[in-house]
Amino acid sequence: MAESIIKKPNNGMPANLADYQKCYTGFDWSHPSGPSLSGLPGGGVNICFEALDSHLDTPIADKLAIRWISKQDQVVDYSYRDLCEQTSRFASVLKDLGLEAGARVFSLAGRRPELYVAALGTLKAGCVFTPLFSAFGPEPIRSRMEIGEANILLTTRNLYRKKIKSWWHELPHLQAVLLIDGSTDDEPGCHDLPQLMQAADPQYPCVATRPEDMALLHFTSGTTGKPKGVVHVHQAVQYHKLSGYYALDLNESDIYWCTADPGWVTGTSYGIIAPLCLGVTMIIDEAEFEVERWYRLLQQQQVTVWYTAPTAIRMLMKAGAAIREQYDLSALRFIASVGEPLNPEAVSWGYSTFGIPFHDNWWQTETGGIMIANFASQTIKPGSMGQPLPGIQAAIVGRNECGQLDKLTSPMQIGELAIKPGWPSMFRNYLHQDEKYQHCFDGGWYLSGDLAMCDEDGYYWFIGRKDDLIKSSGHLIGPFEVESALMEHEAVAEVGVIGKPDPVVGEIVKAFIALKPNFEPSDELLRSLQGFARKRLGAAVAPKEIVFRNNLPKTRSGKIMRRLLKARELGLPEGDISTLESDEQ
Ligand code: ATP
Ligand code: MG
Repeated sequence: MAESIIKKPNNGMPANLADYQKCYTGFDWSHPSGPSLSGLPGGGVNICFEALDSHLDTPIADKLAIRWISKQDQVVDYSYRDLCEQTSRFASVLKDLGLEAGARVFSLAGRRPELYVAALGTLKAGCVFTPLFSAFGPEPIRSRMEIGEANILLTTRNLYRKKIKSWWHELPHLQAVLLIDGSTDDEPGCHDLPQLMQAADPQYPCVATRPEDMALLHFTSGTTGKPKGVVHVHQAVQYHKLSGYYALDLNESDIYWCTADPGWVTGTSYGIIAPLCLGVTMIIDEAEFEVERWYRLLQQQQVTVWYTAPTAIRMLMKAGAAIREQYDLSALRFIASVGEPLNPEAVSWGYSTFGIPFHDNWWQTETGGIMIANFASQTIKPGSMGQPLPGIQAAIVGRNECGQLDKLTSPMQIGELAIKPGWPSMFRNYLHQDEKYQHCFDGGWYLSGDLAMCDEDGYYWFIGRKDDLIKSSGHLIGPFEVESALMEHEAVAEVGVIGKPDPVVGEIVKAFIALKPNFEPSDELLRSLQGFARKRLGAAVAPKEIVFRNNLPKTRSGKIMRRLLKARELGLPEGDISTLESDEQ
């Protein structure tokens, strides 16, 4: 296990969660500590009101809310007041189109300002927002819109022509398409959004939604199977705000960059809602990942808090420290990661490269917000996801001989990571899959489907997805442990590990490795990797087979798809690959 990192103070900033133990043990949902909601003036809760309208009579109103940077480096700024007006216009457009509260608005667009306005404007109108990732092909778009019974689609002209035009009239619920960049070729049902926005009401008030009204429908990443439609309600905003404050340490003085696309839950909970509720300035980059661009933006925009993902971090590591040294990143004070296990090597690399470590945190589309985190004020144990947030009761559970769930209380026992239901951003259903939803709850716990361990200090350690656990000669092996050890080898850029069925030992450990630039596959390198893994993990856990790949199959949100590595290895059907980023094998 890598050594713990006791950090320098947070660049002189006192952490929002200064005394973790005190806050955690004293936390009570009936009088929660931390920032509270404003609530709608006439009663009820609305996410858009918390993010925008509630700031109107405060000094935040004219502050920079969003700085948008286009692919060509054009910069467009929006104050909180601007966004408030724009979202009112969008809500009024929906009303004029005849949409009732609860109607479903889908978006299919890159990271453009209109997408952010539409997300919040939809919520302002009391409708339900579903973002789709713009790189999806027609089939994943159509199936998600069918499941979600989309009433409106917001998209661009280009995406419309390429992916939507030929079939959208077949969807029974879909009333209209709104084109962000105008011009409709006079097609029925297809509207020029800028024109409608111009004629719309800039003062349209927030609809009085109730706390349990549906607000967001998010599709999961599809890492383990067919993506599920996850239902969230307006009350979730209480937790978005609280967790942004405690886990991401956000303050009004921050310039914040969440690199996740709003097509995924991170890009909505922490790329739109939480930062705006907390009055920060956030930057949005329209362009895709590129090492130099990212460093340049961090420097140029003086980003203070940065929330990103392991895949991006591994790509920065692959590019080497010399590039990073060309930039002044001294404004950065807090950096965090989510979405996949963050290898200890990446945490330590962050510490040596940025002077501050990456703070890993864990959550899911279903939890709606961060459940377990490494906090600004707390010691980091590289490789651990951290500790539960105030208000969150986590446990490791397993089944006893009678098949009942028990809390596993001894440190470092492997079991399923479970959370006590009742936090505000907990999902309220899988759309049209009640039974699947009910199946997630047992013995008074929400069961996450992930395996983990808890140490004697209350830190949680990720083992793997339940489906990915490897059983070899009576040992239980988590792929993350093996992957993390291999990541420490100088030649390894990325690695995915699976269990391959074996008649003698049950399963053998097999690793798929993508190499860093300047390393070529060879027998010598293979032997070096095998020796390296055996030394670190022991012969029972080290991979028996290692193969090289140019790339590993990943979801579009950047997660390694181990189920696909396994299906391909065994010649089995690939299953749902709608979220697969095209991969070169
Ligand atoms: P699907 O449910 O469709 O298979 P998915 O689970 O990947 O897709 P998400 O809800 O986007 O969809 O991802 C949540 C999952 O991502 C978690 O259950 C966990 O397995 C993984 N994850 C997220 N953050 C971390 C982390 N910090 N460490 C380890 N795993 C993480
Ligand atoms: Mg999942």
